[in-house]
Amino acid sequence: MECLMCQGVAEEDRCLCFWGAAICSACEVRLMELGVDEPGYDTQVRAFRLLWQRRFLGTRDYHLVEGDQA
Ligand SMILES: [Zn+2]
Repeated sequence: MECLMCQGVAEEDRCLCFWGAAICSACEVRLMELGVDEPGYDTQVRAFRLLWQRRFLGTRDYHLVEGDQA
């Protein structure tokens, strides 16, 4: 699978897999250790939010998602 964060290869038995997406073990560790003030945090949070929105809000609250991204 392709890692959601780094687009690298996520080994299926070692990565964090959910909703058809994957986060490799390296990115998982980085994500857990990442502070809010650190560079890269925004990018990673955005990736999660996009995934979340696509999964849960994509069809039901499409306008809300669109407005949120603008
Ligand atoms: Zn990764």
